[in-house]
Amino acid sequence: MADARGLGRTGRLLYAGPGPTNIPDGVLRAIDRATIDFNDPAFLEVFDAALAGLKRVLRTRGEVFLYTASGHGAWEATLVNLLSPGDHVLVLESGWFSETWGAMAARHGLHVRTVPADWRHGIDPHAVTAALRADTGHAVKAVLCVHNETSTGLAADLPAIRQAIDAAGHSALFLVDTISSLASLDFRMQEWGIDAAVGGSQKGLMLPTGFSFTAVSERALHAHAQARLPRFYFDWSMMQGRRHRSFVGTIPTGLFYGLQESIRRLEAEGLERVLARHRLLAEGARAAVRAWAANDGPRLFCADPARFSDSVTGVLMPEGHDAERVRETALQRFNVALGGGLGRLGGRVFRIGHLGDLNAAMVMGVLSAVEMSLRICGVPHGRGGVEAALSHFAEAAR
Ligand code: PLP
Repeated sequence: MADARGLGRTGRLLYAGPGPTNIPDGVLRAIDRATIDFNDPAFLEVFDAALAGLKRVLRTRGEVFLYTASGHGAWEATLVNLLSPGDHVLVLESGWFSETWGAMAARHGLHVRTVPADWRHGIDPHAVTAALRADTGHAVKAVLCVHNETSTGLAADLPAIRQAIDAAGHSALFLVDTISSLASLDFRMQEWGIDAAVGGSQKGLMLPTGFSFTAVSERALHAHAQARLPRFYFDWSMMQGRRHRSFVGTIPTGLFYGLQESIRRLEAEGLERVLARHRLLAEGARAAVRAWAANDGPRLFCADPARFSDSVTGVLMPEGHDAERVRETALQRFNVALGGGLGRLGGRVFRIGHLGDLNAAMVMGVLSAVEMSLRICGVPHGRGGVEAALSHFAEAAR
């Protein structure tokens, strides 16, 4: 409903959270299906095609295990299938999501070591090498790394981290969370020597929340054979005995019609172009935030341009101003949904998601709502953020 001034939650919600993301109409139509037996040959064909497509997006030829769960489920599945009670893991601190994955590992009785990092600068590969060199007995069985730290808007340099592990001559498995990077940032599982990649349906794949997965290397499969943490629903060995080689239990069939369509769309656009589009949209958002930063205004949370995420931009509020008020204003006055600050960043950061099914005009709408909300909330800021983004997009479109 609009208020007396004509402002409010009318029209279509402009969704700019960093996941879940917008679901294209074509994907919604594809999912809209009557019930089908998941062993029906007609479904098996769709399942196999969708899975083959997912492997192309992940850039792997290895196995992929799927679960009816959000990303947390895939995190847990990955830990319990690869590790044993008392094992040590090395968490590369990046933000809220690396902390939470580490907390989950601790709850499973694993010994969690951390490579600390300043959330605004991200992971330092040299510190990873140093931590692994210090582990002379190779007690650490796995390195846990979040590729795109959705809570901060920083992306890790995965090839550099792979090199850092190799430089230490360490045998730990390299486990990577690609939940908010897959199909929006460059991600190459096989080429980058990743042993397990954790992903979910509701971000770059443009699907509803509903399934998540772990793609695994040969080394990870060998480690799985020795791993003794208890598991049942998430057990890869049970999955390997099934026709689908995934899911213990009923399969969410509709999502696979959707996945087939989302892969078709990604490949019709071309994966390289999908990445270039994410880069363009992210640069537009960053141009706006840089302009707002004048006059002691909100600024980019990411302090190292080499670590900018192209799927989400974290915006750090000036002292004494509440990010939640800006978000609430954008939602209630303009029907624009932004992401909030997580954990210790609550109230200090808001996040502009720019991943999935988006274009420059949609991002302009979001940035306009943010700039209007900053004015309404009396947050000091440099003028011209929207203009800066507009110029960026217009130049790119010439
Ligand atoms: N890892 C990252 C990087 C995420 O962004 C998220 C969710 O946003 C998760 C893990 C947790 O996934 P889920 O919320 O689907 O359980």
